[in-house]
Amino acid sequence: MTENLNSIKGMIYGLAIGDALGRDTEFMSFRQIKSSYGQDGITDLPEPALFTDDTQMSVAIAEALVRDGEKDLKAIMEAVREEFVKWYHSPENNRSPGRTCLTGVANMEQGTHWSKSGVAGSKGCGSAMRSAPIGYLYQRDPEKLKQVAHATGICTHGHPAADAACIGAAYLVKLALDSLPFENMIPKLLSFTKGISGEWDDAILKIEQCLAWEDEEKAFAYLGEGWVGEEAVALVYLLGFQFQKRPLDQTRSPSPQHPLHQPHPRMAPGLRPAHRLCPEAGLGGDRCAGGHGPGSDPGGT
Ligand SMILES: [Mg+2]
Repeated sequence: MTENLNSIKGMIYGLAIGDALGRDTEFMSFRQIKSSYGQDGITDLPEPALFTDDTQMSVAIAEALVRDGEKDLKAIMEAVREEFVKWYHSPENNRSPGRTCLTGVANMEQGTHWSKSGVAGSKGCGSAMRSAPIGYLYQRDPEKLKQVAHATGICTHGHPAADAACIGAAYLVKLALDSLPFENMIPKLLSFTKGISGEWDDAILKIEQCLAWEDEEKAFAYLGEGWVGEEAVALVYLLGFQFQKRPLDQTRSPSPQHPLHQPHPRMAPGLRPAHRLCPEAGLGGDRCAGGHGPGSDPGGT
């Protein structure tokens, strides 16, 4: 149980820390980030280390699942609706929330059923960015993982590519928890999301073409900017792959005395520094820490 609790905390804190690390660069290009923060991008938490709507919505889903995750889909989505509406009206919901998320939640609050409340053409990354808790809770029940990820995704984002990205992001968390090496994930991922969206399939297939590229900026540019769900998940996959290949503490510059190697004063006791948290921790976010590619649709996710 202690081990489970630690991995749950790792997922949530990993999301929050990655989100806070990237918050100041949210609407900057890869090149702008490097020119402002250097080759390694942001390598320490800013002060204050605030997370964004990405983590807020992930926590909302986690709260709903803690309460009703073992029940049927109707009860789960009622809990998700309640938590999303609570987030919508929170005074802290002032951290660049996506327009699509706001519209979908407002529709649910006004009585539209979750299966109809989503914005029909929206394929922003806002549903994929919050799906990590789903991948965690249902890691041993893939069918329920798919069912719940689909429902929590389409309640705001109606486009099939966003549906696939939300399901795919949750499933990648499950595969990471299974300790599957990144290089073996793509066939399983495509098989799990088969038939949902051709655009999603194309975005994921592109990853294989650029995994071995030396020029990371070129690889990021090839996959897109992360404004839409399928690109955001592809970019996070690439980051996870690179992290697995060359963990930060072996290749990047921070010394053992660097703050990244120390538990942060604002981190809960017992948690490890951000870069030591499991790579899957960042799968839910549309922001990635330090020297990253994915952007976030200002107001559109
Ligand atoms: Mg956001």
